[in-house]
Amino acid sequence: METKFLLGESQIPTHWYNVIPDMPGPLAPVIHPGTLKPIAPQDLAPIFPMSLIEQEVSTDRWIAIPEPVRDIYRLWRPTPLFRAHRLEKALGTPAHVYYKYEGVSPAGSHKPNSAVPQAYYNKLAGTKRLATETGAGQWGSSLALACQFFGLQCTVYMVRVSFTQKPYRKSLMELWGAEVFPSPSPQTNAGRAALAQDPESHGSLGLAISEAVEDAATHDDTKYALGSVLNHVILHQTVAGQEAKQQMALAGEYPDVVIGCHGGGSNFSGLAFPFLADRAAGKQVRLLACEPASCPSLTKGLYAFDYGDMAKMGPIAKMYTLGHDFMPPGIHAGGLRYHGASPLVSQLVAAGQIEAIAYPQNPCFEAAVLFAHSEAIVPAPEASHAIRGAIDEALRAKEEGKERVILFGLSGHGQLDMAAYDAYLSGHLEDFEYPEEKIRESLARLPKVTV
Ligand SMILES: *Cc1c(COP(=O)(O)O)cnc(C)c1O
Repeated sequence: METKFLLGESQIPTHWYNVIPDMPGPLAPVIHPGTLKPIAPQDLAPIFPMSLIEQEVSTDRWIAIPEPVRDIYRLWRPTPLFRAHRLEKALGTPAHVYYKYEGVSPAGSHKPNSAVPQAYYNKLAGTKRLATETGAGQWGSSLALACQFFGLQCTVYMVRVSFTQKPYRKSLMELWGAEVFPSPSPQTNAGRAALAQDPESHGSLGLAISEAVEDAATHDDTKYALGSVLNHVILHQTVAGQEAKQQMALAGEYPDVVIGCHGGGSNFSGLAFPFLADRAAGKQVRLLACEPASCPSLTKGLYAFDYGDMAKMGPIAKMYTLGHDFMPPGIHAGGLRYHGASPLVSQLVAAGQIEAIAYPQNPCFEAAVLFAHSEAIVPAPEASHAIRGAIDEALRAKEEGKERVILFGLSGHGQLDMAAYDAYLSGHLEDFEYPEEKIRESLARLPKVTV
């Protein structure tokens, strides 16, 4: 029985799959934070190159991947698809469990799939420097790597709590040539304002985004890059799901359920959307997004217009949100800490096309350790949410005596996350209550959009 399903380099997808033509209805407009009216694509030109803005709004189902990007993809793509024989045995489940492993990229996660094309299009447009935020450090290191390929400078605003907890992510970004500031930083107005309010601020993704957007908007040669949430980021990630479909065909199976962890939505969508295309064409396949209980945008948020960042500088989008100034609990092990969710995933959840579930940290780490014992790879803490979801599906199949086919995304490895494993193994990892009060307060400050 095969364990790995591998493709050749010629089978790296030639196109990205754009889900927009397969959406169940029109997209909600994107709103200008100043006028509270719909924005035009040109309004985004100070922070993104036109080529990426065009991808953001494109209604073409297939968009060609430029050869220089495919060339770089060849360094780690196609990524392997595994059958989790040993995990199945450990669970005693009749389910067939498969996982698509994105941890073989140089940065250790799926994120370079979008970092590389974003750097490429910026290089073509004459950008000299990219500014970005990073939470757990995965996106910052992926963009640093991508900028290195194309000779761009890279500035990363790293959420302070991660900057302190994950010093080696910072080293990795610096090794690949980036400049890294803990956020809030004294570099920007947004950062200075936050520090004036609370000099001890842990920071948040929403705040780090404000700093990076401000940096890009105030420097002519600098653009901004976002690692998740936006349509074009999700577009780039669909290489994973397209490969997984070919690999499932090699295995002679088709998934009953596709599972991914969910922060801003790019990793989940990258795997799930090519299957959603089949679903839109009438095929039976469930899609399940797994998120942390301490930052539960899809399961506890409001589906409403909200700012993408804390300083209200970036566009407003309709999405599941916990409120743009929601600060998730400061001490945490994983990423997946954005206050909102991708507008595409949000619309699909609202339309009942995608299911969502929230898990506390400890059950996720328990799943990650079982996975490391059976399948050997040390999962990224983010990915452990998908593993928890897959294990629960496999255990349900066992209860029901059903031979279910489960595919999940192992979005990255956790070898730079050992501090989190230390905390779990020594019994010091806290499960935070769902911060109901903080979320209610924050949701009271949503913009009043009337379109
Ligand atoms: C960033 C990251 C995620 C979350 O991706 P989103 O696009 O924000 O949902 C999941 N897993 C790993 C390993 C990551 O680095």
